[in-house]
Amino acid sequence: MELNRGIAVAPGVAIGSALVLGSEDFRIPQRFVRIDAVDSEIARFRAALTAAVAEITGHEALASSRLGQQYGAIFAAHKQLAQDPKLLKEIEDLIRQKCHSPEFASSRVLRQYARTLQNLGDRYFAERATDLFDLEKRILRHLLGERREELMQLTAPVVVLAHNLTPSETANLDTKYVLGFATEVGGKSSHTAILAGALELPAVVGVGSFLSEVSGGETIIIDGNQGLVIIGPDEETLNRYHAEEVKMKSAAVHLRSLGPLESVTRDGVPIHLYGNIEFPNEVEHCTQRGAAGIGLYRTEFLYLESDQEPTEEVQYAAYCEVVRAFAGKPVVIRTLDLGAEKFPQSMQEVIEATPNPTLGLRSLRLTLQNLPLFKTQLRAILRSAVLGDVRVMFPLVSTLLELRQAKMILADVIDDLEEQGATFNGKVQVGMMVEVPSAALMADEFAREVDFFSIGTNDLIQYTLAVDRANPAVANLYSSADPSIFRMIRMVLSAAEKHEVAVSVCGQMSSDPIYTPLLVGMGLRELSVTPQAIPEVKQVVRSLTVPQAQEIAEHAQTLEVARDVENYLRGELKKLCPDLV
Ligand code: PEP
Ligand code: MG
Repeated sequence: MELNRGIAVAPGVAIGSALVLGSEDFRIPQRFVRIDAVDSEIARFRAALTAAVAEITGHEALASSRLGQQYGAIFAAHKQLAQDPKLLKEIEDLIRQKCHSPEFASSRVLRQYARTLQNLGDRYFAERATDLFDLEKRILRHLLGERREELMQLTAPVVVLAHNLTPSETANLDTKYVLGFATEVGGKSSHTAILAGALELPAVVGVGSFLSEVSGGETIIIDGNQGLVIIGPDEETLNRYHAEEVKMKSAAVHLRSLGPLESVTRDGVPIHLYGNIEFPNEVEHCTQRGAAGIGLYRTEFLYLESDQEPTEEVQYAAYCEVVRAFAGKPVVIRTLDLGAEKFPQSMQEVIEATPNPTLGLRSLRLTLQNLPLFKTQLRAILRSAVLGDVRVMFPLVSTLLELRQAKMILADVIDDLEEQGATFNGKVQVGMMVEVPSAALMADEFAREVDFFSIGTNDLIQYTLAVDRANPAVANLYSSADPSIFRMIRMVLSAAEKHEVAVSVCGQMSSDPIYTPLLVGMGLRELSVTPQAIPEVKQVVRSLTVPQAQEIAEHAQTLEVARDVENYLRGELKKLCPDLV
């Protein structure tokens, strides 16, 4: 049994067989073969090996003639490994004695050797480990041939293990078969992490290098509460986690029972809890938990789900589905926030070649340079606004000029729709995300030009502290509890109050119940949270009074270091709702 720690990003426990996504996305379909098939499976292994050796010999000859002997020698070393009698015997023994499939046995033996070499702490040997991984891939390719399975074509439940999953790959996970996932990279507020919550998949990210320890088909436990990935759990651990699964299901039922209860403090002050969604089908997760509306609809996922750009009608249908479900309650539709790590598969190469994509052409900047794209979306939003209280929100606004340009485009779209005699509602509230420090610093000026602010702490933290929200190497520096973030929030709140502009927080910070007393105490009366977090945040709201929250916020703001703030807030939450800590 092997235990790896990472960052817990979506709660729950997933137990299942590993689907390891290497660079070639191989999946080992089965771990065992029937005893009467052992001879034919060994023959299959030998045939694959012969084909692999022939392939290597071809590469060796080509490299030697084109590049010189020393390059050919790389392949000669691979060939030597592929013909190593000890190694081959170990693989065949596993097939014969343990009835392992050739895929599982080769992967297991070659990875074990590779790990041993990696652990010798010598660069030369570590590089030889790469040769073994290479050989593993080559043999698997010959073994699996046409049977190579892709992430998109799953037929049985799996736990996905990958170096990285992009938001668009995550958005496309087949939740019928994917039980949970773990990745080597990624951070707490990365979009992949947010999507795990949206798909209600237990997930751990930022585990660091661990894929070489796993063979496809091995049993894995993903503990999305503690941030653990357990490879090959022993029986006692498995039993403990099965019991945990049952306990969590009943806790979830209890929290859901809070759905119909009002979100008011003990002294009767309403705190409106809205849902953050990425997909229209999440409205049900929100309504079941008693959301007061949608505070953030991340519409870009409509683009990430498909290879083709969604038409105006496709977008209109998606927005209508959400607006109808909320019958008159606010639905804040955020315009496209594409770019950085959120891009359709088709744009992957372009984005990867862009230096500093987080500071580049993303979000509102991208739509302002692609007016047909922007206008199509605004048309669909305004048409859906006939059905309810739709509000438009612009993401990543960093200057007043950008905001004014975006509003001008909106006015143009209204003119066009009017001219065309379309059915639409042009009298929608218009707001902006405050997620760039410049927007917080200029909140006073921005407040004169919008109907509402929504504080996006995910990006605000990233840009204020200069910490990539998806990079586990700096995850310790990424904290909602940093005093600089409170100052930013205070600036926005005071500008909003002065100009009577509504304000909410929609970043992940508002979904973490440790921050609920602080945010309420600072003066927030609207929070937009992930659907899963609604019951917990509501439980905190219902156990607080506003003066109590103010006292907590005041004290938290005297502390100078994020870690002290976090500890203090966790302690206060423990007093209010011990079961949530
Ligand atoms: C944010 O940045 O806080 C936010 C809500 O937007 P996203 O997470 O989609 O970047
Ligand atoms: Mg953002």
